[in-house]
Amino acid sequence: MALPFESFARPAPRALAEQRHIELQGEVVAYRLVRSARRSIGFSVDRQGLRVGAPLSVGLAHIENLLRQQGEWIREKLTLWRAHAVLLEAGTVCLWLGQPHILRRAAGRVSRCQDGQLELAARAGEADLGAAFVRWCKARARPLFLARLAHYAGCLGVPTPPLRLSSAKSRWGSCNAKGEIRLSWRLMQFDPQLIDYVVAHEIAHLREMNHSPRFWAIVHQLYPDWRAARQAIRRLARQLPQLT
Ligand SMILES: [Zn+2]
Repeated sequence: MALPFESFARPAPRALAEQRHIELQGEVVAYRLVRSARRSIGFSVDRQGLRVGAPLSVGLAHIENLLRQQGEWIREKLTLWRAHAVLLEAGTVCLWLGQPHILRRAAGRVSRCQDGQLELAARAGEADLGAAFVRWCKARARPLFLARLAHYAGCLGVPTPPLRLSSAKSRWGSCNAKGEIRLSWRLMQFDPQLIDYVVAHEIAHLREMNHSPRFWAIVHQLYPDWRAARQAIRRLARQLPQLT
Protein backbone atom coordinates (compact mmCIF):
# COMPACT_ATOMS: atom_id res chain seq x y z
CA MET A 1 0.00 0.00 0.00
CA ALA A 2 1.39 3.38 -0.91
CA LEU A 3 0.42 5.12 2.27
CA PRO A 4 2.51 7.67 4.12
CA PHE A 5 3.98 6.34 7.30
CA GLU A 6 1.91 8.66 9.44
CA SER A 7 -1.29 7.12 8.15
CA PHE A 8 -0.65 4.01 10.20
CA ALA A 9 -1.78 5.91 13.28
CA ARG A 10 -5.34 5.50 14.43
CA PRO A 11 -7.45 8.28 12.96
CA ALA A 12 -7.47 11.29 15.24
CA PRO A 13 -10.91 12.54 16.20
CA ARG A 14 -11.69 15.31 13.71
CA ALA A 15 -8.60 17.40 13.12
CA LEU A 16 -8.75 20.37 10.76
CA ALA A 17 -5.48 21.46 9.21
CA GLU A 18 -4.71 24.59 7.24
CA GLN A 19 -1.61 26.35 5.94
CA ARG A 20 -1.21 29.93 7.18
CA HIS A 21 1.34 32.75 7.35
CA ILE A 22 2.32 35.18 10.07
CA GLU A 23 4.88 37.96 10.29
CA LEU A 24 7.31 37.35 13.15
CA GLN A 25 9.92 40.02 13.80
CA GLY A 26 9.90 41.14 10.19
CA GLU A 27 9.97 37.67 8.65
CA VAL A 28 6.93 36.06 7.02
CA VAL A 29 6.74 32.59 8.49
CA ALA A 30 4.56 29.83 7.06
CA TYR A 31 2.94 27.46 9.52
CA ARG A 32 0.54 24.60 9.64
CA LEU A 33 -2.40 25.11 11.97
CA VAL A 34 -4.13 21.97 13.17
CA ARG A 35 -7.31 22.36 15.14
CA SER A 36 -8.59 19.45 17.13
CA ALA A 37 -10.28 18.46 20.36
CA ARG A 38 -7.14 19.36 22.33
CA ARG A 39 -7.43 21.74 25.28
CA SER A 40 -4.48 24.09 24.88
CA ILE A 41 -2.38 25.71 22.18
CA GLY A 42 0.96 24.08 21.48
CA PHE A 43 3.58 24.52 18.82
CA SER A 44 6.70 22.87 17.52
CA VAL A 45 9.45 23.57 15.03
CA ASP A 46 11.17 20.79 13.13
CA ARG A 47 12.47 20.10 9.65
CA GLN A 48 8.97 20.58 8.27
CA GLY A 49 8.72 24.04 9.77
CA LEU A 50 6.39 25.56 12.33
CA ARG A 51 3.32 23.61 13.37
CA VAL A 52 0.63 24.86 15.69
CA GLY A 53 -1.99 22.77 17.43
CA ALA A 54 -5.03 24.54 18.84
CA PRO A 55 -8.46 23.77 20.27
CA LEU A 56 -11.36 24.10 17.84
CA SER A 57 -12.88 27.06 19.69
CA VAL A 58 -9.88 29.39 20.07
CA GLY A 59 -9.86 32.47 17.85
CA LEU A 60 -7.13 33.08 15.31
CA ALA A 61 -6.16 36.42 16.91
CA HIS A 62 -5.40 34.64 20.18
CA ILE A 63 -3.25 32.07 18.41
CA GLU A 64 -1.35 34.73 16.48
CA ASN A 65 -0.73 36.77 19.62
CA LEU A 66 0.82 33.75 21.24
CA LEU A 67 3.02 33.12 18.19
CA ARG A 68 4.22 36.74 18.23
CA GLN A 69 5.07 36.49 21.92
CA GLN A 70 7.22 33.44 21.11
CA GLY A 71 8.50 34.95 17.87
CA GLU A 72 12.14 35.06 18.87
CA TRP A 73 12.23 31.42 19.97
CA ILE A 74 10.42 30.30 16.81
CA ARG A 75 12.78 32.18 14.51
CA GLU A 76 15.85 30.85 16.27
CA LYS A 77 14.59 27.28 15.88
CA LEU A 78 13.75 27.81 12.23
CA THR A 79 17.21 29.22 11.58
CA LEU A 80 18.81 26.19 13.23
CA TRP A 81 16.81 23.76 11.13
CA ARG A 82 17.59 25.62 7.94
CA ALA A 83 21.30 25.56 8.63
CA HIS A 84 21.04 21.87 9.40
CA ALA A 85 19.20 21.27 6.13
CA VAL A 86 21.84 22.79 3.92
CA LEU A 87 25.27 21.95 5.23
CA LEU A 88 26.87 18.70 6.24
CA GLU A 89 30.33 19.95 7.05
CA ALA A 90 33.27 17.89 8.21
CA GLY A 91 32.75 17.44 11.93
CA THR A 92 28.96 17.11 11.62
CA VAL A 93 27.52 14.06 13.34
CA CYS A 94 25.25 11.91 11.19
CA LEU A 95 23.38 8.73 11.88
CA TRP A 96 24.62 5.74 9.93
CA LEU A 97 22.75 2.51 10.65
CA GLY A 98 21.50 4.06 13.86
CA GLN A 99 24.92 5.03 15.21
CA PRO A 100 26.25 8.58 15.35
CA HIS A 101 29.28 9.04 13.11
CA ILE A 102 31.46 12.10 12.69
CA LEU A 103 31.79 13.13 9.06
CA ARG A 104 35.29 13.63 7.70
CA ARG A 105 36.48 14.57 4.26
CA ALA A 106 38.35 11.65 2.69
CA ALA A 107 41.81 12.48 1.35
CA GLY A 108 41.32 10.34 -1.76
CA ARG A 109 38.35 9.19 -3.79
CA VAL A 110 37.35 6.31 -1.56
CA SER A 111 34.79 6.69 1.20
CA ARG A 112 35.04 4.49 4.25
CA CYS A 113 33.68 3.99 7.73
CA GLN A 114 36.13 3.57 10.57
CA ASP A 115 36.23 4.15 14.34
CA GLY A 116 32.95 6.02 14.50
CA GLN A 117 33.94 8.25 11.61
CA LEU A 118 32.61 8.37 8.09
CA GLU A 119 35.29 9.50 5.68
CA LEU A 120 33.43 10.69 2.63
CA ALA A 121 34.89 11.47 -0.77
CA ALA A 122 33.34 14.72 -1.99
CA ARG A 123 33.49 15.50 -5.70
CA ALA A 124 34.87 18.65 -7.25
CA GLY A 125 32.45 21.50 -6.80
CA GLU A 126 30.70 19.99 -3.80
CA ALA A 127 30.84 22.54 -1.02
CA ASP A 128 29.81 20.19 1.76
CA LEU A 129 29.55 16.46 2.43
CA GLY A 130 25.77 16.17 1.94
CA ALA A 131 25.90 14.70 -1.56
CA ALA A 132 28.72 12.34 -0.59
CA PHE A 133 26.69 11.11 2.38
CA VAL A 134 23.69 10.47 0.13
CA ARG A 135 25.90 8.49 -2.30
CA TRP A 136 27.31 6.51 0.62
CA CYS A 137 23.82 5.57 1.84
CA LYS A 138 22.41 4.77 -1.61
CA ALA A 139 25.30 2.53 -2.59
CA ARG A 140 24.80 0.37 0.50
CA ALA A 141 21.01 0.45 0.66
CA ARG A 142 20.18 -2.00 -2.13
CA PRO A 143 22.25 -4.99 -0.96
CA LEU A 144 21.08 -4.57 2.64
CA PHE A 145 17.41 -4.14 1.69
CA LEU A 146 17.52 -7.11 -0.69
CA ALA A 147 18.97 -9.34 2.00
CA ARG A 148 16.32 -8.32 4.51
CA LEU A 149 13.51 -8.64 1.94
CA ALA A 150 14.73 -12.16 1.18
CA HIS A 151 14.79 -12.96 4.90
CA TYR A 152 11.23 -11.81 5.63
CA ALA A 153 9.85 -13.17 2.36
CA GLY A 154 11.31 -16.52 3.43
CA CYS A 155 9.60 -16.22 6.83
CA LEU A 156 6.28 -15.67 5.11
CA GLY A 157 6.91 -18.30 2.44
CA VAL A 158 6.60 -15.93 -0.52
CA PRO A 159 9.12 -15.18 -3.30
CA THR A 160 11.45 -12.21 -2.70
CA PRO A 161 9.73 -9.21 -4.31
CA PRO A 162 11.38 -6.79 -6.73
CA LEU A 163 12.95 -3.80 -4.95
CA ARG A 164 13.08 -0.19 -6.03
CA LEU A 165 15.07 2.39 -4.13
CA SER A 166 13.23 5.60 -3.44
CA SER A 167 14.26 8.96 -2.00
CA ALA A 168 11.01 9.47 -0.11
CA LYS A 169 11.40 11.56 3.01
CA SER A 170 8.64 10.13 5.16
CA ARG A 171 7.13 7.30 3.14
CA TRP A 172 9.82 4.87 4.19
CA GLY A 173 8.39 1.95 2.33
CA SER A 174 5.51 1.06 0.06
CA CYS A 175 4.17 -1.95 -1.74
CA ASN A 176 2.07 -1.70 -4.91
CA ALA A 177 -0.56 -4.01 -6.35
CA LYS A 178 2.07 -5.68 -8.54
CA GLY A 179 3.95 -6.71 -5.42
CA GLU A 180 6.88 -4.35 -6.02
CA ILE A 181 8.38 -2.88 -2.88
CA ARG A 182 9.93 0.56 -2.66
CA LEU A 183 12.22 1.45 0.22
CA SER A 184 13.81 4.82 0.86
CA TRP A 185 17.59 4.97 1.02
CA ARG A 186 17.09 7.37 3.95
CA LEU A 187 16.34 4.31 6.06
CA MET A 188 20.11 3.69 6.08
CA GLN A 189 20.28 6.31 8.83
CA PHE A 190 18.22 4.00 11.08
CA ASP A 191 19.24 1.11 13.25
CA PRO A 192 19.09 -2.17 11.27
CA GLN A 193 16.33 -3.36 13.61
CA LEU A 194 14.17 -0.42 12.59
CA ILE A 195 14.93 -1.06 8.92
CA ASP A 196 13.76 -4.61 9.55
CA TYR A 197 10.43 -3.34 10.81
CA VAL A 198 9.81 -1.35 7.62
CA VAL A 199 10.84 -4.35 5.50
CA ALA A 200 8.60 -6.73 7.49
CA HIS A 201 5.74 -4.26 7.19
CA GLU A 202 6.00 -4.12 3.40
CA ILE A 203 6.46 -7.88 3.09
CA ALA A 204 3.25 -8.33 5.11
CA HIS A 205 1.48 -6.27 2.43
CA LEU A 206 2.23 -9.04 -0.06
CA ARG A 207 -0.44 -10.98 1.84
CA GLU A 208 -2.72 -8.13 2.92
CA MET A 209 -2.86 -4.93 0.86
CA ASN A 210 -4.42 -2.93 3.70
CA HIS A 211 -3.90 -2.07 7.34
CA SER A 212 -6.56 -4.40 8.72
CA PRO A 213 -6.19 -6.43 11.92
CA ARG A 214 -5.28 -9.39 9.68
CA PHE A 215 -2.43 -7.33 8.25
CA TRP A 216 -1.11 -6.37 11.69
CA ALA A 217 -1.33 -9.99 12.80
CA ILE A 218 1.08 -10.89 9.97
CA VAL A 219 3.39 -8.01 10.91
CA HIS A 220 3.30 -9.24 14.51
CA GLN A 221 4.24 -12.73 13.40
CA LEU A 222 7.18 -11.38 11.37
CA TYR A 223 8.25 -8.66 13.80
CA PRO A 224 6.72 -8.94 17.29
CA ASP A 225 8.08 -5.60 18.55
CA TRP A 226 6.51 -3.60 15.72
CA ARG A 227 4.79 -1.04 17.95
CA ALA A 228 8.03 0.17 19.55
CA ALA A 229 9.79 0.24 16.17
CA ARG A 230 7.03 2.30 14.62
CA GLN A 231 7.23 4.84 17.44
CA ALA A 232 11.02 5.01 17.33
CA ILE A 233 10.92 5.72 13.59
CA ARG A 234 8.42 8.52 14.04
CA ARG A 235 10.62 10.10 16.70
CA LEU A 236 13.80 9.76 14.68
CA ALA A 237 12.26 11.03 11.48
CA ARG A 238 11.94 14.48 12.98
CA GLN A 239 15.63 14.65 13.81
CA LEU A 240 17.12 13.64 10.50
CA PRO A 241 18.91 16.30 8.47
CA GLN A 242 17.00 17.37 5.42
CA LEU A 243 19.17 15.97 2.66
CA THR A 244 18.18 16.43 -0.95
ZN1 LIG B 1 1.50 -0.33 5.11
